[in-house]
This record gives sequence, C-alpha cells and structure tokens, in this order.
Amino acid sequence: MAICTVPEALEQVLSAVHPLPARKESLSTALGCVLARDLVASSSLPGWDNSAVDGFAVRAADVTSAAENNPIHLRVIAEVPAGKPATVRLEPQTCARIFTGAPIPEGADAVVMQEVTRPHHEGYIAVLDPVEPGDCIRRAGEDVRAGAVALRTGVLLGPAQVGLAAALGAVELPVHPRPRVGVLVTGAELVEPGKTLQPGQIYDSNSFALAGYVRQAGCEPVELGIADDTKDDLHEKIDYALGECDAVITVGGVSVGEYDLVKDVLAELGCEQRFWKVAMRPGKPFVFATRGQKLVFGLPGNPVSAAVTFLVLVRPALLKLRGLTDWELPVVEVEAAADFVNRSERTTFMRARRERFGDKCVVHPLPQQGSHVITSIAEADCLVEVPEGSTLARGTIVKAKLIHGQV
Ligand code: AMP
Ligand code: MG
Repeated sequence: MAICTVPEALEQVLSAVHPLPARKESLSTALGCVLARDLVASSSLPGWDNSAVDGFAVRAADVTSAAENNPIHLRVIAEVPAGKPATVRLEPQTCARIFTGAPIPEGADAVVMQEVTRPHHEGYIAVLDPVEPGDCIRRAGEDVRAGAVALRTGVLLGPAQVGLAAALGAVELPVHPRPRVGVLVTGAELVEPGKTLQPGQIYDSNSFALAGYVRQAGCEPVELGIADDTKDDLHEKIDYALGECDAVITVGGVSVGEYDLVKDVLAELGCEQRFWKVAMRPGKPFVFATRGQKLVFGLPGNPVSAAVTFLVLVRPALLKLRGLTDWELPVVEVEAAADFVNRSERTTFMRARRERFGDKCVVHPLPQQGSHVITSIAEADCLVEVPEGSTLARGTIVKAKLIHGQV
C-alpha cells in the first residue's frame, strides 16, 4: 500500500468516523458532551416579571417628583419574598416590600432600590428618587422565550450550557456520549513504573501519556495494560478492546520488524486496514483500521511519534466521534526565533516552544527532535509543521499548533 500524505491520511480517517449515536444523559454526566438535538425552551426564562433588586415595588407615576428634599411617602401594604406568588394589587400611593427574584405584584410597574428610600413612620416609606416604568424589573422571557431554541445541536456542553439547561428545568439531555477509547501498549521490553527494571527493560510511558491525551480530547480512556510481542497476547487483548471500546489505540509494533505483529493481528480479528505509513515525521509507521463502526489506530512506539501521531491523526477522529465539527488544534501565528529546517522527504512536526519578551512572542524549535527524546515533547508547547525539504526562516511568521489542552 502506498504511503499517504498527512492530508490524505486525515481525510481517510475522518471519512470513516461518525459521531456516536445520541443517548440521554443526566445533566451532570452530559457535561463535556456534545448536544445531539436542539434544546427548545418549554417555558420562558424568567418565567414571570420579577424584581432585580431588594426594594419596593411601586407605581412609577406616584414618585415622579421624588427627591432627597421632596420625599414621597408611600404606604407599605405587603411584603413579597422570593419563592412566593404576589397576591396583592397596588393602589395609588401604596407600595410593596420586595426582594430580588420575587414576582412583581399587580399594579406595580417599577421597583425602587432600598438604597433610595428611608423608613418613614409606622407602615410608610419615603422615596427619595424618581423611577421610570420598568426600572429594576426583569421581564418574563427576556433571557429565553418559551418555544425558542436555547441550545443548538452540536454545542459543547460546558458548565454554562448545563446551567442554562437546568434553569429551563431539563433533567436529561440528548447527547453524543463520551467515547470509550482503549489504550493498549505493546512490547516485551515494557514494565510498569514501580517495578524493578531488568537489563534491557524500560518503563512504559506511553500508557500514561496516551491516556492523558485521550482524556484531554474529551474521551474516556480505558487502560488495557501491556501486551507482549506475541500474536496470542495481542489477539486476546485487542479482541477484548474491540468489544469494550468505541476506538482502540495500540502503541508500538506497527513497523517492519519481526516483532511488529499488530497489523497481522488486526487482520486476524477481521479489521479492515485503511492505510499504513504516513509521510510524516515523527510517526511514519501508523496504521488505521476499522471493524464496523469501531476504529483502530496503531501508533508507533517511540513516545514522541505516539504523541505527535495522536495529536495529528487520532485527536481529530475522537473529536468527530464526540459530535464536534472543529477538530483542528488551536493555531497561533508567531515569529520564528530560529530557522525551522526540515531536510527530510516527509512533513515534519517540529516540537517547539513559545517565549514571550514583553509584548513580543517568538517560537523556538527545540534542539533535540529525535522521536525517542521524551523531554522534547514534555518541554514543547506547540508543533510547527515544516513541509518536506524546506526551511521556515528565522524572523518569518509561522503557524504554531498549540498542544496543551486542559486535563
Ligand atoms: P516499536 O514501535 O514497537 O518498534 O517501538 C519503538 C520504540 O519505542 C522502541 O524503542 C520501544 O522500546 C519504544 N516504546 C514502545 N512502546 C513504548 C512505551 N509504551 N513506552 C515507552 N517506550 C516505548
Ligand atoms: Mg515494539
């Protein structure tokens, strides 16, 4: 199979991904999910005219001439707290004590803030400032009208959106569920941190990094442990992962060595290989396969290759699976502080770091760009894509793809 360019690989991946079918989730579990249908307000918000302040509900016409040296005296005929209906009706020269959020009684057309009144003798207050009709009244439906779309299909439900749904009385929302994404690392040399290394062994770092990236992409990582470089172990673990997860990420074992068995095992398990090998650096050996709606991404094992291929090819797929339509990494334009040189025949995603001097921001390529140099990705805050055989010269403006999402 021919080697794909990065845009071809991305196009192939995205065309195989469909947002997960919608299901209802409670408001708390819907947080971080994408809304699958418009939320239409079944009632208005606010539901009725209510007071914006603590004060006195009045008839504005009664207090047009009010001033510090011309207090208008009104009789207080009722108290309307929040949470109770207003049962009184204001006649001329009367008012009602009212609190923030309480319904405006009939006959009242404005609220005077407590701060511009003074207690007068028993049962009366003095108003010291005029008000216009409508002052300090929050009108029914001024936030959302009954029947209007309060939240549109495709919106990401963050805290504010979930809060709005709750204000409208929603208990559950139709959402694309959070994808469950398996992470299976492969390699006979790998050992869990905490154990003693034997000669030739290394600690598995990719499980932790990839689970983190999966979480940052808004998905639920399913940690599947370490598979040995044997067909039997890979078969058993990938088979299990395909049953449990919406997408499976394997790491390592997709290159051309005798122990690179992932592709064979995917074929044994009935997965259709869509492509292998992408013209990018780091990360040339990368396999993408599907079985029905399930997605399998076989990432190369070098930690920087695994991270970069995740960010470039897997993250967009996971965002699409969640129902999002914008899957680009955030990009900023920034001046190159040094030449970004790519002598290879593959697009290179150079690890780089932005630095600020006063008002000016520049971006430096990190000195070590090897795909095994884990500190280069740990120190980077962006990737700069440099086309094959080219240089982005110092002093020019380059596009930096930001790689630190929130956990
Ligand atoms: P592979 O893609 O399996 O040929 O692995 C390429 C390189 O990445 C080798 O040096 C592996 O030891 C290393 N590697 C593979 N998987 C991991 C992992 N989970 N954690 C750290 N290094 C790994
Ligand atoms: Mg390996």
